[in-house]
Amino acid sequence: MNKKITLDSREWFFETPLPGVRRCKFDAFKIEKDIYYGKTEFQKIHIFKSPGFGRILALDNIIQFSEIDEFIYHEVITHLPLLSHPSPQRLLVIGGGDGGVIREAVKHPLEEIYQVEIDRQVIEICKKLLPFVSKGAFSDKRLRVYFEDGRRFIGRYDNFFDVVIVDSTDPVGPGKVLFRSDFYRSVYKALTREGIAIFQMGAFIDFDLILRRFINIIKGFFKYVYPVRLCMPSYSCGSEYCFVVASKKIDPHKISVNTIARRLNNRLGKKSKTLRYYTPLIHFASMYIPKLWQC
Ligand code: SAM
Repeated sequence: MNKKITLDSREWFFETPLPGVRRCKFDAFKIEKDIYYGKTEFQKIHIFKSPGFGRILALDNIIQFSEIDEFIYHEVITHLPLLSHPSPQRLLVIGGGDGGVIREAVKHPLEEIYQVEIDRQVIEICKKLLPFVSKGAFSDKRLRVYFEDGRRFIGRYDNFFDVVIVDSTDPVGPGKVLFRSDFYRSVYKALTREGIAIFQMGAFIDFDLILRRFINIIKGFFKYVYPVRLCMPSYSCGSEYCFVVASKKIDPHKISVNTIARRLNNRLGKKSKTLRYYTPLIHFASMYIPKLWQC
């Protein structure tokens, strides 16, 4: 029989299991150094350093990213929808207070970038304590940042954004409203004719528990909907993670690899050298889904 192990919660971070939303397995990270802990009007913010993972951001005790894998998440959620679009000019980012999506988005020749983040303190704290995530992107002249609930904000727009990136927290706490049918309807309405959206969803291990339901709701609005696979070692169960790309008119899976490669080169130029995960082939590979997760 295994020896009973007791872990001291001052030395270990235990990620909260979310019954009904996530399978009840939880991860523990050794805390090498506590960097910040505080409560905002919306959520608890915890930043700590862990061996092997570097600096980690947790909101309401859920890991948002670690220093070693944030680029995987941010590159895929940003470049996959932007490069699927023939000529995106106006981007909206919902959530994304750490600045990782903005960092990737400013590499594109966009005219306007809007960001709506519910919690001003996430942006302020991440800029100060995790500057490697935004890398100065918050001072880009094309960016306008609004502090408001993303669902209310987008409800005021019609036929306006070419691409919408929903980089929210999980369907608990302030992020819950971003997993509702009326929100998906508003995203559809706010997008232009060839508009494309991408939504952060959850771990594939919980596909049957929760993801299939949201994907089917999104399918009720958008013509082309695909789960997108990526691996986030710091996430629950170190598992394969799922975004969902949803498009009104353009099929992101049917564009040729050459077209994506040409757009990457023309739009990002030398900045494409900064990418470490996303490639034109990854663009397509991430949309091939095992049989049990097809819907
Ligand atoms: N990588 C992430 C993950 O693991 O889910 C998401 C990162 S980002 C830090 C998520 C952001 O969404 C947070 O800063 C949070 O404040 C913001 N957020 C949550 N609910 C929101 C809402 N209703 N409107 C706008 N922003 C929201």
